Amino acid sequence: MRERLARFMQGRYGVDKFSNFLVILALVLMVLEIFIPFMYVRQGLNSIGLLLLLYAYYRILSRNHYKRYAENERYMKYHNKVRFFFARRKSHMEQRRTHHIYKCPSCKQKIRVPKGKGKIAITCPKCRTEFIRRS
Ligand SMILES: [Zn+2]
Repeated sequence: MRERLARFMQGRYGVDKFSNFLVILALVLMVLEIFIPFMYVRQGLNSIGLLLLLYAYYRILSRNHYKRYAENERYMKYHNKVRFFFARRKSHMEQRRTHHIYKCPSCKQKIRVPKGKGKIAITCPKCRTEFIRRS
């Protein structure tokens, strides 16, 4: 039995991050479906979830490694963009506790200034404009 499975999987592409994402998204849709009282929406979510699962299995069992690899690369590009976006937001939130972010009045450059220093003159590092703010 194990041997047969191994032979069946030979030359197949297998699981990658994109397949994992598809399976998780499908499961999320199918769980979400439980909480939705509208019949048509539920059926729609269910169908989409099923299609995503089928697509994930199609990819896992595919023999066209080149195409699947390219799909995964495309997915990873978006994946990294989203991760970068949240990482940036998180670091902004952390900085907000200790720093003020001011915009230069003439060139809109964002400038980070430590909090609690009273009135200070800020010189824009980009255009050298000086302005006064409370920190
Ligand atoms: Zn400036």
